[in-house]
Amino acid sequence: MRYQRSSALFAEAKKYIPGGVNSPVRAFKAVGGEPIFVKEAKGAYLYDADGHQYIDYISSWGPLLFGHAHEPVLKAVIEKAKKGTSFGIPTEIETELAKLAVSMVPNIDKIRFVNSGTEACMSAVRLARGYTGKDKIIKFSGCYHGHSDSFLIQAGSGAVTFGSPNSPGVTQGTAKDTLLANYNDLEGVKALVQANAGEIAAIILEPVAGNMGCIIPEDTFIKGLRELCTQEDILLLFDEVMTGFRLAKGGAQEALGIDADIVMFGKVIGGGLPVGAFAARSEIMAHLAPEGPVYQAGTLSGNPLAMSAGLAMLTEIDQHPEVFESLAKKTAFLHEGIAEVLTEKGVEHQINRFGSMVSVHFCDDQVVDFASSAKGNNESFKKYFHGMLDQGIYLPPSAFESYFLNDALSYSDLAKTLEAVRAVF
Ligand SMILES: *Cc1c(COP(=O)(O)O)cnc(C)c1O
Repeated sequence: MRYQRSSALFAEAKKYIPGGVNSPVRAFKAVGGEPIFVKEAKGAYLYDADGHQYIDYISSWGPLLFGHAHEPVLKAVIEKAKKGTSFGIPTEIETELAKLAVSMVPNIDKIRFVNSGTEACMSAVRLARGYTGKDKIIKFSGCYHGHSDSFLIQAGSGAVTFGSPNSPGVTQGTAKDTLLANYNDLEGVKALVQANAGEIAAIILEPVAGNMGCIIPEDTFIKGLRELCTQEDILLLFDEVMTGFRLAKGGAQEALGIDADIVMFGKVIGGGLPVGAFAARSEIMAHLAPEGPVYQAGTLSGNPLAMSAGLAMLTEIDQHPEVFESLAKKTAFLHEGIAEVLTEKGVEHQINRFGSMVSVHFCDDQVVDFASSAKGNNESFKKYFHGMLDQGIYLPPSAFESYFLNDALSYSDLAKTLEAVRAVF
């Protein structure tokens, strides 16, 4: 049996860890079957517990822009670890990473480090509420901002209405302050703002969405949101946990040419270690403790181990900005190759791509929001996912996730991937 050892490890894990995993998507619920267990990884390749090699298209869900175990990051972490991994006392490297991040990203003066994207988004919303003195936020169906209560919201009944919790444990009280709109639907957002005049603190979105497949914001939509926020004294929050330092040095703000008011980071900024961050102009960040009254803290925030990985990663990006062009070309090659095979085989599909994010949807209609993404044929997706896995290609195990390419991928890896797609169909 191909996955014998992984299967045994999964059975053992399930005895001690709920569902056998520490983050649900890893359990393969959306695609069926059992997860593979990874033993190690290098460059573009993963190696599982049964000794198979995989070409990896998730790159730890985004952080590993240059591939696994990238030497400069490894070296920085190993050297730093020898000098102590956490003090809870200020260190110079926090300022070094902050200074570099601020120099790379447009429109931010100060940055606060946390330990995950979830924490960054949760804290950014608190800051937005504290700064504006307003309670409600607008988020978009299908955008993911981590698992804090305010974001685990689904559409309620009625056209213009409050959200309702989409997980037990989230209270109605929390849900009522999160309003839900559809991605790429500016008119819907305007209606919500009008119906809640003077009460909206922030509009939060993934500036290029990656958690309902890859979805590109229409120009009029993203520009319209910026104008609306400025007019109505609403803060525009860009969740760049996925897009930050991936789409460009300056993330989606730079790639789209739109300024946000607060920007959240995660994934790439930690180089594969747990780091999140949120950043804004000084005037907004001044409201954060200890400078201002909005509380936010963290025992392990800014710890030297995580900072050293982040600093090595951002330094690499800063010194090799051509990585974005290289990644975009590889992603376009993959996109065009998959489209060619699927067209030739008569499989209905839509492929969305922006920079090094790409997603394949098994449907006919354009995918522009959560509803159109949800129309994809999940049976085709499952067949595709498992067919690819069995041939040593690791794709995201859910149709709602974007692929994240890393620059360790070679054109021969990409060609192999296209052969595998041909074999599946
Ligand atoms: C991954 C992700 C998060 C959550 O980050 P964690 O580090 O998993 O908590 C938030 N927002 C977006 C857009 C993400 O992709």
